[in-house]
Amino acid sequence: MYKTKESKTNKRVEKGRSACTHVTKLMGDFLCGTLSEAQVAVMNDHLAKCSRCRKVLSVSRLALQSVAAVGLMKLLRSVQ
Ligand SMILES: [Zn+2]
Repeated sequence: MYKTKESKTNKRVEKGRSACTHVTKLMGDFLCGTLSEAQVAVMNDHLAKCSRCRKVLSVSRLALQSVAAVGLMKLLRSVQ
């Protein structure tokens, strides 16, 4: 009985995680604006109900901005 309950719980967690993994994989393209409308719809739908992925997205966005800023600084230095 205990085992059955445990495996059910694990299954639910795995299902949630795989949705998160899918969304996380799309995030790079989402931030670059290269996703299709259908993929953006999937992302927004998931982000609306998953605070974890919203956090990942905001961190990814910050990381992307800082990488872009570092790249810009390097570019400006190389010009000078
Ligand atoms: Zn998620």
